[in-house]
Amino acid sequence: MSNIVNEEVEKYIRETLQDKEGLLKELEVYAAEYNVPIVHKEVSDLLKVLLKVQKPKSILEVGCAIGYSSILFSTATQGKVKIITVERNETMIERAKENFKKSGFEENITLLEGDAEELLKSVEGSFDMIFLDAAKGQYQLFYDLVIDKLKVGGLLISDNILYKGMIADDSLVMRRKKTIVKRMRNYLDYICNCDYLSTSLIPIGDGVALSYKEKERTEK
Ligand code: SAH
Ligand code: MG
Repeated sequence: MSNIVNEEVEKYIRETLQDKEGLLKELEVYAAEYNVPIVHKEVSDLLKVLLKVQKPKSILEVGCAIGYSSILFSTATQGKVKIITVERNETMIERAKENFKKSGFEENITLLEGDAEELLKSVEGSFDMIFLDAAKGQYQLFYDLVIDKLKVGGLLISDNILYKGMIADDSLVMRRKKTIVKRMRNYLDYICNCDYLSTSLIPIGDGVALSYKEKERTEK
């Protein structure tokens, strides 16, 4: 249970949405078995719809894990999107590389290996979509490194923003998570209140924020 919506509602939505097929299905089974935190099913279908509407040509992803979301993005756009994704965990990197090969989208996905804080500084170019899905205590830091690389009219998607309900409800906060919770709340306050983004917070999966970039950021 995610602590975010009523259990019955979550169950109903999951049962009603179509199951994935092929490699994505295989990766879901792997992720469940090895506890890899891939996007929740409801979120993956929201992302799929957003991709079809926005038709991004370029995506920057922070947090690749086994490559599930990158492959989902590629599948939803029939391989028409170029993706740069970042991952620091060795095992995840190995799995992701194998999975990109299997997916047939290898040519369109660049995996940067190492810590995002280091690597994002040297990422060149601008992107139609940015997907933040890595260490939850560092979103503001990642954000500051990537937001100027998002095109005006582009979409920033932040995953796990309600973190098992803890972000909204103090009584759920586990002791060792206090700092992460505080940082995530500050991040959400920021993206909801800055004048160059239009943000929506959505309580599905583990919580998703969608932020449309209206204009360039001026303050730093
Ligand atoms: N986007 C993936 C899931 C990513 S899970 C999907 O939905 O399929 C988050 C991943 O981010 C983990 O694999 C973790 O190792 C990685 N990560 C966390 N902090 C990071 C950092 N600072 N630099 C690089 N990778 C990071
Ligand atoms: Mg996530």
